[in-house]
Amino acid sequence: MEILIARHSGFCYGVKRAVDMVWDLVRQGNGPIHVLGNLIHNPTVVEELAKAGVRKVTRIEDAKAGILVIRSHGVPRQVITEAKERGLTVIDTTCPNVKLTHDIAQRLTESGYQVIIVGDLGHAEVEGILSYTDGRGIVVQEAKAIEENAERLKGKKIGVLCQTTIQLDILKQVVDALIGRARELMVHNTICDVTSKRQASTLELARAVDVMLIVGGHESANTARLAEISSLVGVPTHKVESAADLDPSWFRRDVITQNTQPGHISDTGRARNEMRVGLAAGASTPSEIIDKVKATLHSWEAMGVLDHTKA
Ligand code: SF4
Repeated sequence: MEILIARHSGFCYGVKRAVDMVWDLVRQGNGPIHVLGNLIHNPTVVEELAKAGVRKVTRIEDAKAGILVIRSHGVPRQVITEAKERGLTVIDTTCPNVKLTHDIAQRLTESGYQVIIVGDLGHAEVEGILSYTDGRGIVVQEAKAIEENAERLKGKKIGVLCQTTIQLDILKQVVDALIGRARELMVHNTICDVTSKRQASTLELARAVDVMLIVGGHESANTARLAEISSLVGVPTHKVESAADLDPSWFRRDVITQNTQPGHISDTGRARNEMRVGLAAGASTPSEIIDKVKATLHSWEAMGVLDHTKA
């Protein structure tokens, strides 16, 4: 069995930084430590932090004293102000890429631009950005929303920025819809390329293997998207949160053949007489979980658990 890992996989820079910052706090022994919401969409990491005494709270008032950690995708600025007013020590792990969108939104607002945020309505990151426009920004999910806001935008100076994880095509369509309406148009492409790189390398790997495993939290939207992308190329794809979710039957040749769409490589892969398994992981999956999945497959192979799977 050959196990291949997608070129861009697992923790992104911003999530790793946030998790490292919280473990540093644990080591320093100050506390109590509270996180506003789940630090990341990965239950294994969240459970480990909970065992180390890091408590999740959903409202600021649930943290009576100590430290309040702000997640990597940021919060509305009034949340930070309120936490400080309540005497909490705020540790802000907002990713520098997200922080940049806050700064741009504030600068554009102060310079008299009508700010347009291209992103998902109600998404935590978008709510954070919106707060830096003093609530005056307009959130648009797609280009047709520009038409709906036509009167509000007519003849104005317009500044555009976006949620870090949206698709470039959506930003382009919104900008196209704005040209000709605005007196002046200032566009900031604030998309983070982490998501697109993970999706492209998952696609590349899925085309070259017999089975794909997508490792990540069941709640993680970016992990779910990777699984969808992998399935699109016709390869049997399984989503696992950790090694405990693995099932030996997924690697049986008859099961693979049954679940492979015609034309995919594993149709011809039988000639190789060696199974190729691909591993890809979402931005909130730590490398230890990916390594454990890989090690479990190798140990099954060594113990003969997968003997019956050979072609
Ligand atoms: S996906 Fe990009 S913007 Fe979001 S936390 Fe990771 S590095 Fe930062």
